[in-house]
Amino acid sequence: MQPIDVVNPWSGIVDYQFVPPTADELAAEAARLRRAQLAWRNQTLGHRVDVLSRFRETLLARREPITAALAADTGRHLVAVAELLATAGAIDRWCRQAPALMAEADGRSVQTPSIRYRNQWVPYALVGVISPWNFPLTLALIDAIPALLAGCAVLIKPSEITPRFVEPLAEAIAAVPELAEVLSFRPGAGETGAQLVTLVDAVCFTGSVRTGRIVGEAAARAFIPAFLELGGKDPAIVTASADLERAAIAIVRGSVLANGQACQSLERVYVHESVYEDFVARVVARASAVTINWPDPAKGVSGPFIWARQGVVVQQQINDAIARGARVLCGGQVEDHGGKWLLPTVLVDVTHDMLLMNDETFGPVIPVMKYRSEDEAVELANFGVYGLSAAVFAGTEDEALRIAERIDAGGVSINDAALTGVMHECEKHSFKCSGLGGSRMGPSGFTRFFRRKALIVQEAQPTPIAAFDETLLAR
Ligand code: ADP
Repeated sequence: MQPIDVVNPWSGIVDYQFVPPTADELAAEAARLRRAQLAWRNQTLGHRVDVLSRFRETLLARREPITAALAADTGRHLVAVAELLATAGAIDRWCRQAPALMAEADGRSVQTPSIRYRNQWVPYALVGVISPWNFPLTLALIDAIPALLAGCAVLIKPSEITPRFVEPLAEAIAAVPELAEVLSFRPGAGETGAQLVTLVDAVCFTGSVRTGRIVGEAAARAFIPAFLELGGKDPAIVTASADLERAAIAIVRGSVLANGQACQSLERVYVHESVYEDFVARVVARASAVTINWPDPAKGVSGPFIWARQGVVVQQQINDAIARGARVLCGGQVEDHGGKWLLPTVLVDVTHDMLLMNDETFGPVIPVMKYRSEDEAVELANFGVYGLSAAVFAGTEDEALRIAERIDAGGVSINDAALTGVMHECEKHSFKCSGLGGSRMGPSGFTRFFRRKALIVQEAQPTPIAAFDETLLAR
């Protein structure tokens, strides 16, 4: 296979290369994992918890090389450290929760007068993970951890845009030999992802709607379930009664964190007309104070676009909005310093015929629109093809919840932004084009990796075929 060049998002220079697996190598790796899974699934859950807990320790012990590689992948340091700590936290959380969820499964049995049954939970043998570049470590392992605890083997194909973290992470995996038997990473581009879908028993995909649709179709052909976590165009509603300073703080953070390269970033803001001017002034003041981590990578809040092409897409959306009458109050111009940065950008006079209000932006852009009535706010928030998450800011919880219940999205944060990113206990589905399949969060994040098999015992005599003779009706 041809080596794949990888651009450093901060410098804009190609400084890394990797060779993706050939079709035969990937197939051989899948076969190896399948063989190892037979023993893994027969181990007790306690054993798997112990193995994953040791992996957590090695992850923390090797945090420096892993976060350094992750920082090179993404052009940001603090978020890289946060990703590693959050992943260690996720391992800890699932190791604590999985035993109770399994106990529930084991305890479920039913007795009718003569027939009783119990369920056996059978893990998928091999789960494939296809992950994106925006949170390379978190999103590679978020579904893999519960799948491993369930007794599956996992083969992960991380994004070709951000593969540097895999080498030091593979060393941490190798330090736990039982885990290395059933978990492996094979970075590659789209063709490797496409082949992976044909080799596994279930696929977990995080990425764009466009690629998600391709993966979903391929999974349907392979007759395997696809768990799709796709994009969003999250709206925020700010009512007349809201604490505007609080709303401005949360919305700027919710739009700008990780340079807006998060599916749950806020990308549309609808504000009641009576507080519109005041709110916009507060958002502009906060957005204008944000700095970028250039020229000093050790300073600044906002990193570069991880994938330079995304900077081009965001600029096109801004230019299209300006051409259609929008006004830029701050930011607005992607800066090229080798890598590409965009200062937080606030736009007003936006309309729903602009690309910016329809397509996922994945950048630090805050378009603000006025609304007059609660019904109108809900209608505006429910516009478009996405339904990932949303936020509502209101003076009372009752008012906020009343609005939140009418929004077509899988998670709504009240008086803050992107709470779905920190509350992993909440079960949530994606609405509309934002995804498909059981919730990655909450109990189903673990239980969805098992097929339920019913083991049904007849205690009485079985019914003979003679019981179905038509002449019996005449009697
Ligand atoms: P992004 O990472 O920008 O969200 P994508 O949705 O295109 O972009 O990519 C997400 C993941 O899907 C990446 O790991 C990418 O390599 C992979 N991928 C791209 N094309 C395909 C495909 N045809 N089949 C399977 N995976 C793919």
